Amino acid sequence: MHLKRFYGFLQKQILLMIGLSLIPGLAYIFLGWMNNIVQPALVWYGLMVLVSLYGWRLYRQFKIEQMDEVRLQQWYKHLSAFFYIIFSLWTLIFLLYCTETEHNLHYIAIFTQIGASVVASTLLVSDKKLFLPVLLILMVPLIVYFGLIGQWYGYVLSVFSTIFLGVLLYSSDNSYRLIQRNYYQAQHDALTGLYNRRYFLEFMDQLIARLSYSEHYVYMLLIDLDHFKTINDTLGHDIGDKVLIEVAQRIRNYCEKTHMIARLGGDEFTIVSGEFENESSCKKSASIFAQKLLQTLKEPYFVEGHHLYLSASIGINTICNEDADMHHFVKETDIAMYEAKAKGRDGVVMFNEALMKQVEYHLEIERRLYFALEHHEIELRYQPQLSAQQEVIGCEVLLRWNNAELGVVPPSEFIQIAEKTGLIIEIGNYIIKESFKTLRYWSTIGIELEQFSINISVRQFFNNDFVEDVERMVRTYLDSHLVQKVVFEVTETIFIEDIDRILDAMKRLKAIGISFSMDDFGTGYSSLSSLRDMPIGELKVDKSFINRVGERRSDELMITTILTMAKIFNLKTVAEGVETEAQFQFLLRNNCNVYQGYFFSKPLTKDSFESYVQKMHEKKSLKNIAYEI
Ligand code: C2E
Ligand code: CA
Ligand code: CA
Repeated sequence: MHLKRFYGFLQKQILLMIGLSLIPGLAYIFLGWMNNIVQPALVWYGLMVLVSLYGWRLYRQFKIEQMDEVRLQQWYKHLSAFFYIIFSLWTLIFLLYCTETEHNLHYIAIFTQIGASVVASTLLVSDKKLFLPVLLILMVPLIVYFGLIGQWYGYVLSVFSTIFLGVLLYSSDNSYRLIQRNYYQAQHDALTGLYNRRYFLEFMDQLIARLSYSEHYVYMLLIDLDHFKTINDTLGHDIGDKVLIEVAQRIRNYCEKTHMIARLGGDEFTIVSGEFENESSCKKSASIFAQKLLQTLKEPYFVEGHHLYLSASIGINTICNEDADMHHFVKETDIAMYEAKAKGRDGVVMFNEALMKQVEYHLEIERRLYFALEHHEIELRYQPQLSAQQEVIGCEVLLRWNNAELGVVPPSEFIQIAEKTGLIIEIGNYIIKESFKTLRYWSTIGIELEQFSINISVRQFFNNDFVEDVERMVRTYLDSHLVQKVVFEVTETIFIEDIDRILDAMKRLKAIGISFSMDDFGTGYSSLSSLRDMPIGELKVDKSFINRVGERRSDELMITTILTMAKIFNLKTVAEGVETEAQFQFLLRNNCNVYQGYFFSKPLTKDSFESYVQKMHEKKSLKNIAYEI
């Protein structure tokens, strides 16, 4: 128990003990002077002053921030010596005065000794190693003294004193245990017995203060179990708890004595190492340690008849005297851990500058995105969708963000951030509004598309006003004919969320004429049969499969399977990311319905899209004329 409070408490008792010794001590000089034993009394008081000075020095020396474990232990040794000596001095004065029966000083001596015992059992109660010997030093001489009187009342007093000593020891021990238990509970996690978050924060505070003096290095690991929630959800919390206990046990067995291990809550653990003299050895040890730990945690678990397999994402960070801010440091470790998660989990990532830059860049995006709409930086692009006969039958609306400072930021980089911050609602509504305007405008100039696809983020579905907002925009910008062309593209992430709520929104939108397309199909967890209960009318085969046509047989098989199955379920199919003639021909052979990709056209501005439609139309007419001739 190397807590600030524990040592801090003992430190305060030094001053109290000095006060309780030097002030009543003066009375003993006076009594000695009255009874002609002033010389020994003065010598005794002199000794008391010396010991008090020693105590005062210890009091001043105590600077927990700068003391490492070794120095703290040394200090504690001196502190114990101080208490032993100062109470021994009280026994000394007792021995001196208890023989002075003719002046009745022995009464005072006896009382002093009993008083000192009570003082010792209260002041030193937090530490058994101190109060136990000190009580013996004080009480045993008294018991012996009574016994040596040689009279019946002496024996009785001797027995009484022994009982009194027993009571003091018993009550001190009881209080000591209670304090220990309270300390323990305040610092430990009830489930695993590891340290808790509160202790961890206190520990880090002290550690960082100490490192600023020692200039040593320490590493910290943040361990988060992967998909632990699934265990809780599918097997119940009891089993989840047992797994956590087992994980804690494995970590404990694997760690060394110098490691501090804590459970920060849920399935998150942390380990802080002992001190290293240089950075490179600290980093090297951290990596090796973390990799091996990961292997240990991945060994199968056997809990109540279930064989479970777990993995973890581990973030590492090293700390030295320059990292003055603990919260900053923990945050960095957190970033590393999240990076491990983002990289597909089951891995170890050490925090580095590049990660920091990435985070800063994200923050920068977050800040600037806030004003993107206001500054008219969000633009729309339209990527043509073609039929098997290469006629433009539709388009997908894609977002572009053009920022003066950051340049063109691709949606892959900012959509997620917009979702996280909730900005996607505002941006999403803007996109819907602008695309509806475009759809209507095109209809007025004679560009009649079959379908008009807009990407919708799952976060938008969760906005309570979403359906009403869409209904309002449909009323304002479209008519009953045009709304039939609108397709909302959703991704498989909708399956992870509260599906009932999403289904409800989809059904209401379908009622006003909007249809739905499943984007990036084949990359997620959904199967065709899981789509059956949803109002989905179209599948977009993910471009990662199309990419590898002609390269990987398994991907081709995947495409043909999806296309055949979609037919059975009566779904329209769109191939996106078509880049080559060969890919197009392959898809054509397999009866895909709609084609989209760079092979035909990149996403275009509104004007370019109009020209593109015009051009394709002319090409077609020319072909027809040629055919007729
Ligand atoms: P997505 O919905 O899968 O969009 C298709 C992406 O593939 C687009 O990237 C498009 O430009 C790109 N692409 C099209 N044809 C080809 C091709 O032949 N080869 C290659 N390599 N790429 C092709 P983009 O515009 O960068 O969009 C990326 C993602 O950002 C989109 O993926 C979509 O998830 C999201 N996104 C874009 N616009 C919006 C939007 O308005 N709202 C929402 N919620 N998300 C959007
Ligand atoms: Ca899409
Ligand atoms: Ca897609």
